[in-house]
Amino acid sequence: MAAEVLVLVEHAGGEPDELSLQALALARAYADGFGGAVSALLIGRGAAGAAGVLGVHGAALALVAEHEALEDDTRFAPDAWAASLCELIARRSPAAVVAAGSDRGNEVLARAAARLDQPMAANCLAAAAVGEGARVTRLRWGGSLLEEAELDGVPALLTVAPHAVATQRLDAAAAAVESFTPALREEDLRVAVRERVAAPGGGVSLADADVVVSGGRGVGSAEGFAAIEELAALLGGAVGCSRAVTMAGWRPHSDQVGQTGTKIAPELYIPCGISGATQHMAGCKGAKHLLAVNPDPEAPILASADYAVIGDLHEVVPAINAAIRKAREAR
Ligand SMILES: Cc1cc2nc3c(=O)[nH]c(=O)nc-3n(C[C@H](O)[C@H](O)[C@H](O)COP(=O)(O)OP(=O)(O)OC[C@H]3O[C@@H](n4cnc5c(N)ncnc54)[C@H](O)[C@@H]3O)c2cc1C
Repeated sequence: MAAEVLVLVEHAGGEPDELSLQALALARAYADGFGGAVSALLIGRGAAGAAGVLGVHGAALALVAEHEALEDDTRFAPDAWAASLCELIARRSPAAVVAAGSDRGNEVLARAAARLDQPMAANCLAAAAVGEGARVTRLRWGGSLLEEAELDGVPALLTVAPHAVATQRLDAAAAAVESFTPALREEDLRVAVRERVAAPGGGVSLADADVVVSGGRGVGSAEGFAAIEELAALLGGAVGCSRAVTMAGWRPHSDQVGQTGTKIAPELYIPCGISGATQHMAGCKGAKHLLAVNPDPEAPILASADYAVIGDLHEVVPAINAAIRKAREAR
């Protein structure tokens, strides 16, 4: 049995990404199952800084890929990342490779799986080594069912469902840091991000916001989002929406919450005029508190709500906005 689980850790500005810390927690449990170690692969500028804090999250070793083509994180080249990962897999023969269930984590692992001609399991909640493979529990159908599956082959390639596994802090020493230079070929760099266009409005991103105020078909029009935007701004949050809204062209797809949109885990989620379809709930089940605004007391969203206002959002949301403004003026 190989003695290591390798985790692809994403980071920004020297800070490991939250979803990668969740992947480390799953990897730690996987490695504990056979008394193995956890190592991390980090790529891009600031990687060495991020590596320093991984010890308490269960990684004994941080392997930092250094290559001029990997330095600029804004020019993400998924095949170059997959090549770096596969080079480490060839050298270290890990029992499993784990990544966050982020866009990058899923893409890099899928490309690594294709290179290795191995299966890959996405959306895992738990995993354990079994013989020459792994047994995994995965979220399927937008989170409406759990699948128990067996994955053949070594290493087991897994990504972790976002916000489904709690991060851990251990009383552990700092991870040792080793750097290596992957042997990249020209074709590894053919697919790369060439340009980034900031979303209009800037501000806090939907995925990271502590408060998200979303509108659904019940908002009725693009203009109807004015009060929702105001509430999000008053609470320092972001605006989201359902697919009914993006399909109607009222908001861009980047605002969509759900199975085929952004997965969010805010402290407070306020869906207004949203029925609570399974595919929508798949994107917001990580919310700590949910306040629904809907006139229909039978709407499915109420089954997931901690609080609800049964009423017309066109009256309720402006009233909340006015109350917040008034309370702030009185301070
Ligand atoms: C493969 C697939 C993927 C999908 N992915 C996603 C996804 O990522 N995200 C997503 O959201 N959906 C997704 N969907 C669509 C999903 O199934 C639903 O159709 C969609 O979420 C419904 O959006 P809604 O709740 O805004 O609209 P509806 O289901 O029409 O609900 C509208 C709600 O507004 C309420 N309402 C009406 N008037 C008012 C008012 N004045 N004030 C307050 N409330 C009011 C109604 O009572 C109702 O509950 C997907 C579907 C498929 C098949």
